[in-house]
Order: sequence, then C-alpha cells, then structure tokens
Amino acid sequence: MKTIKIKDSNKEIQIGKVVCVGRNYADHAKEMGNEVPDKFPIVFMKTATCMINSGENVVHPSYSENLHHEIELVLLIGATVKNANSKEAENAIVSYAVGLDMTLRDLQFKSKEKGEPWTFAKIFDTSGVLSEFVSADEYKLTGEEKIYLSVNNEIKQEATVGLMLFNPIEIIKNISSRMTLEEGDLIFTGTPAGVGRVVKGDKLSGGIENIGKVETTIA
Ligand code: ZN
Repeated sequence: MKTIKIKDSNKEIQIGKVVCVGRNYADHAKEMGNEVPDKFPIVFMKTATCMINSGENVVHPSYSENLHHEIELVLLIGATVKNANSKEAENAIVSYAVGLDMTLRDLQFKSKEKGEPWTFAKIFDTSGVLSEFVSADEYKLTGEEKIYLSVNNEIKQEATVGLMLFNPIEIIKNISSRMTLEEGDLIFTGTPAGVGRVVKGDKLSGGIENIGKVETTIA
C-alpha cells in the first residue's frame, strides 16, 4: 500500500514518511515500565512499505515471539510545515484515520537494553494497518472520541483520544521543529494502555468513534 484515499474524495495521496509518537498516554508509559514524560515524548519511524489496509492480514515474522498490538489515531499531513505554530499545525492536518502500530516487543526490549535503535521492532512488512481516512473538513476532533481494540472479541484497549499527553497540534509543532513534514506524511500519535501479545489466527478489531474501524487477522 503506497497511496491513501480520503473517504468521499477522489484525491489519492502518496504515503511519505511515517512518524510515530511513543509514550503519549500516561497509562501506557506506566505499563511499559517507563516514567510519564513531562516533555515531548519519543519519536520513531515506520515506512510506507509497512502499511496495509484494514481487512488485510498482518504476517507474523518468524524471528519474533512477542508481537503486540497498539491502536492509535493517525494524522495525514497535507502541507509542507517546518517549525509550525499552532495555526499552521492545525491546518496541516487534512485527514484522520485509525491505525495499528504492530510491534515486536521482544526485539524492542532487546534493543532498549543494549541502547540501540528499535527500528527492526517496528518496520516489518504489514506492521501498519490503516482504516479509511476521514477528511478533517468533514470531522472535527473533540477529544471525547473512544479509542478501542479487541482481540477475538475481547476488549483489550479502551480510552479516549483526549487522554493523549500531547494533542495532534502539539505533536506537529514538536515534530516539525526537528524535521520538515510534507503532504502524504503520516503521524501515529501513540497508544493507550492495554497492549498485549497476539498469535497466529487472532482476529483484531479496533477503531475510533466517528473516525473509522480497523480489522486484521494475524497470519
Ligand atoms: Zn505505537
């Protein structure tokens, strides 16, 4: 998957870089044994080649024993922004989606222990699952939206988007102070508590109220 279609629009947008925010919900930072950040949390990257559409399978890599689900709000950037102020950051968001940031937790922990980057924990093929995209002109985010994920019909993650430590505007201001963001770039905004292991055959179903739904099976 290399291009995105926004619901009710003919425009097709090529996926650029994919920037992900870590530890953006206090309860998730705690469950991972991390302190709740008081300044902008960590950022890491995925790639366009990771991305699949809702309904396609996540292929479990053979070199990991601990594949985790992370349900997240995803922002689509529609303009070039660098050192964005609040208004520019807000205008840069053209669309919202729901995403799964699938993570190889064992590889991530090993890398953390050694003080090495966790790239390989995050960029395997099919490690990003995307719902439909909803235009930001059509829907204004309130923060009240429920974000949830169930595995085999059992609810695992449940929160509201407003529990993010840094909201979408603050996220774009922070990221664009370090790198230029462009049309087609995606931002995964972090996951709430309740992440956990999934195995082959598991069926994942999640979403964000008024934004969309994402479904996948682990293959
Ligand atoms: Zn994540």
